[in-house]
Amino acid sequence: MLLAILTVSVVSLYEYEAEKSDLVDTANALVFSAERSLIAGLQKNRFEGVSIIEDGMDKLPFIKAVFIENERGNRYQYGAIDSRYYALTKDIVADDKALGFLTLYIDNGSIRSAMVSKLKIIILVSILVFGCLGLLFSYVLNATIVRHIKKIATLATVPSRLNAKSYIPIRIPRKRVPDEITALLDALNYGQRKYKELAIEKASYESLLSFQANYDSLTNLPNRRHFNDYLEKQLGNMRSGTGPASLALLFIDLDGFKNINDGQGHDVGDSILKKTAIRFGQTLSTYDSYISRFGGDEFIAILENHDRETVEKAATQIINSLAEPFTFEDKKMSIGCSIGITYALDHGSDAKELIDKADSVMYQAKNAGRNTYVVFDPKMMEQVIFENKIKQKLQSNNLDELLAVYFQPLVNLNSMKVIGFEALVRWFDDDLGFIPPDVFIAIAEKSGLAFKIDSWVFSKAIKQVDLWRAKYNEDFIVAINFSPTNFHDNQFNDWLDNNPVFKNYLDWVELEVTERLMLADDNVAVGGIHRLMEAGIKFSIDDFGTGYSSLGYIKKFKHILSKIKIDRMFINELLNDDADKALVRSIVTMAESLSIEVLAEGIETEDQEKMLMELGCEFGQGYFYSKPIPVSDMDELLLVWNRDVKSTDEPTKNIGGHSAH
Ligand code: C2E
Ligand code: CA
Ligand code: CA
Repeated sequence: MLLAILTVSVVSLYEYEAEKSDLVDTANALVFSAERSLIAGLQKNRFEGVSIIEDGMDKLPFIKAVFIENERGNRYQYGAIDSRYYALTKDIVADDKALGFLTLYIDNGSIRSAMVSKLKIIILVSILVFGCLGLLFSYVLNATIVRHIKKIATLATVPSRLNAKSYIPIRIPRKRVPDEITALLDALNYGQRKYKELAIEKASYESLLSFQANYDSLTNLPNRRHFNDYLEKQLGNMRSGTGPASLALLFIDLDGFKNINDGQGHDVGDSILKKTAIRFGQTLSTYDSYISRFGGDEFIAILENHDRETVEKAATQIINSLAEPFTFEDKKMSIGCSIGITYALDHGSDAKELIDKADSVMYQAKNAGRNTYVVFDPKMMEQVIFENKIKQKLQSNNLDELLAVYFQPLVNLNSMKVIGFEALVRWFDDDLGFIPPDVFIAIAEKSGLAFKIDSWVFSKAIKQVDLWRAKYNEDFIVAINFSPTNFHDNQFNDWLDNNPVFKNYLDWVELEVTERLMLADDNVAVGGIHRLMEAGIKFSIDDFGTGYSSLGYIKKFKHILSKIKIDRMFINELLNDDADKALVRSIVTMAESLSIEVLAEGIETEDQEKMLMELGCEFGQGYFYSKPIPVSDMDELLLVWNRDVKSTDEPTKNIGGHSAH
């Protein structure tokens, strides 16, 4: 448009000048045609020749007036003069003599109107031309550039392409020529590719994060968090009637895993966990099931839409899947598992309740001898509540307020002298009454509280027996029970390092450990035993014969053991059962050859004592001599004992006659 206006202005300026000079030329021609007769007229001092001009003026209407003056001052005027007219003056000369002059008055307005009509056409034409040019230009622009840019813009935001899993370049239907559009497209595609790469990286990072958050990296099974979410979801569905028809939760805890992990190292432990996960997965693959690693050596399986018989069959298969030992670098290792089973919604409608109950029945399976499963029974709730009470009390109280140490004499069957005492912990609770030590010790062991108790008993017992040693000037020994879990307590080493009692050489202190510990091949425990032995402490094997240990184990651990305590189970039936008698005899023979002492537990009658003496057993302990008694009763017991031993060869037995516990 600007161009059109400019063109019209230039053209009109030019046209105006052309028009003007046209008029002037026409006027000049008129003057020229009239000049001769005008000269003749003026020479005669007349204005006859003027009629030609008047005629011409009639034909040329833009000449509005004529004015002639001769040298004598005579004037002639035709038409009215207006100051707006353009004056064209011409001298009239003949033979070099000036005769006068002539002025024509030309009307500009007529030029203007002629101009206007011409301009109208020019403007119209230029608008038409420029319009067409514009259209043509925009068509070309569209065909070569705009259409492609539009296409690129549309394709750049197509959701299916943006959301695609991998990078898809933008392609336009156009030959590839090295121009700005190609450069633009390449730049855009480069950006989109980078964006996609970043997005893919981000997505894979996010999925890794979510995998790590929900799956166990060792076994690749869902982890505790995933399990909780899954169980909550399924229970929610069940409550609203859209979930599975039945849901069983199997809490699986490995038996003997901890010993392998501590004894053989974590690599072996990890490898066994992985293989266990695979075996469990395979076993459950034929069921509508879900399995997760709940933590450590605990797995939880969920079985859906199966009746109870099928669930128990699956539990048995899980247990059997571990029957085949695992091999690690040519070493064969066996583990087992104990399973606690709860059913939703019968045993609980929220996840925590079902898990806690399954966990507690799993412990019952362990106590029942391991490698077995136990289904939750509502009656067990009482047990759970009881266990929690025990746990809570042991945890939050100073043990001085809760517990006491009783002592039971250990007797040399040959000399009938009291050689020392076994320290046995006692708990008389204000609201729970008397709690047997094997009951609360078992609970303490699984809640990590056994070491708190045993180290407390240890201090009390040593202090007390040290006093009696001084008072009676006797080399009394003290036997203290020591849970196998103590060696794994993280305070164990601190205790060894910082307890001043270890500054003395404690060769009158014996720790009683069970066969369980010896069997386990537990390097941590063996390390702990050696450190304690450096302080002079001796070890005896408690409840010998109840576990799986053979006499072979005694040989293996002879450098550690100073005493074997034969379990009272064998002493009970000693008089009636020849097998028990044979066993006691072979233990005595074997121990003698290894310079290990033998003590018979649970002697209740004189006949038992006699038999044991015949079999060569050197030491004894039991109600026949005394029940475990409180410190306050010991002086009397020892007094009576010593008097009797001194006065007769055959001492009166069961001197104390103290009440049980
Ligand atoms: P244990 O180490 O075998 O202790 C001997 C158990 O046999 C004691 O039971 C004792 O009272 C009982 N007993 C002794 N003589 C006879 C007898 O002639 N006949 C019968 N029927 N029983 C007899 P208690 O005191 O109830 O202890 C039970 C178990 O609790 C202990 O068995 C021991 O394993 C554990 N225990 C006791 N005190 C401690 C302790 O301080 N620490 C640890 N870790 N365990 C302890
Ligand atoms: Ca004992
Ligand atoms: Ca025992």
